[in-house]
Amino acid sequence: MTTTVILGMLCVHLICFCVMFLLISTRLNGKKMGMEVLALGNLLLGLAYILQLLGGPSSWGFMSVVNHTLTLSAPVAYVLGAMRFFDRTTPVLRPLLVLALIYSVVQVLVQLLLGDAARHALLAALCALLFLGMTAAVLYGRRSFAKDLSVEMIIFAVLIGGICILNAAKFVLIVDGGMAALDMSSSFQKVFYIYMSFLATVLPPCAVWLVLRRLTDELRSLAAHDPLTRLLNRRGLLDAMEAHFRSRTAGPAYLLIVDIDHFKRINDTHGHNVGDLVLCHVAEVLKATARQGDLVCRLGGEEFVIIALDTDSVGAVQLAERTRTAIEYSEVPSTDNSQLIRCTATIGVSDQFTSAQAFDKFLQQADAALYRGKAAGRNRVELGYAQGG
Ligand code: GH3
Ligand code: MG
Ligand code: MG
Repeated sequence: MTTTVILGMLCVHLICFCVMFLLISTRLNGKKMGMEVLALGNLLLGLAYILQLLGGPSSWGFMSVVNHTLTLSAPVAYVLGAMRFFDRTTPVLRPLLVLALIYSVVQVLVQLLLGDAARHALLAALCALLFLGMTAAVLYGRRSFAKDLSVEMIIFAVLIGGICILNAAKFVLIVDGGMAALDMSSSFQKVFYIYMSFLATVLPPCAVWLVLRRLTDELRSLAAHDPLTRLLNRRGLLDAMEAHFRSRTAGPAYLLIVDIDHFKRINDTHGHNVGDLVLCHVAEVLKATARQGDLVCRLGGEEFVIIALDTDSVGAVQLAERTRTAIEYSEVPSTDNSQLIRCTATIGVSDQFTSAQAFDKFLQQADAALYRGKAAGRNRVELGYAQGG
């Protein structure tokens, strides 16, 4: 009786969270993050348990075959949903239909050849193996595709590992004691369904938490980057500088302001789209020329800023000169091959500074140097401070 009530509650949980996942997926325009597939997983498992409530677990027949097929398909749907969450494009319906077909046939064969207990043992064994694979994948993900979700992955591994162990135990009990192991009033079945109920309550909010994290991370990234060149924008640069200077070992930084020469002419001659291509090209050159760890930002229009970190004035000037040369001698890849576009840039270099709050002051200093560089003929590096001072 207790187990039946727990099973009933489990069905309610599964179906409620199925609806919630579906609602979330409709709010996520375009990229649904696998939510619709997780909803399908919950629906399959919910239906399996409803069938179990209606027909009992052990009675052999069409309902029981469907029940087992749904029970095995649900975790597979969860795996496919998780793959979609981690940006793997994977088909869903076809693999699930193929699995359902093959497993239904296998069930009939096992039932006819080895009997009911073997069919139930097979389900428990396959579920145990599937959950073992999921636990291993989650632990692997912690070190590869989900490095930023380390704590979450450990929690998932523990929770899924638990259901893996329970299915393995169920398999052993069936092999040992036959169909009696599936008696709904047994303590094992009670523990099994209490744990399933616990999972059905805890895992969906965890999945929603992951979606929320992904969305807020994406929003933060959008707010910190320039949409055209994907470089940091001013806000992203200030945040990154603050993070750098918070470190006790942070050395001084130099600010380089890079302004493309006669950019308006490029726009006027080749059109705004080619102008945009030039901006993206210069952004790539800046990223390639800067040292790893230096901060590269598009301040606006055709003006870029490089913050050279942990260097001295010689290093900063060398970087400026390297950048100027790289821009001058690189060709802008154009969609129209007949057009060969090159551009140059003038660069102003600030004196060293040691806090993000000093940004505006040293930007002005570098800008003044840039202005002098423009007046002196462009395509040059100009220092914003007296050398040797
Ligand atoms: P100087 O050598 O003195 O720097 O001259 P300049 O022509 O590069 O500078 P100016 O400030 O006169 O012109 C900048 C131009 O950049 C004007 C503006 O239309 C263009 N611009 C600003 N933002 C964008 C953008 O996102 N895309 C494109 N294609 N053009 C832009
Ligand atoms: Mg310019
Ligand atoms: Mg300008």
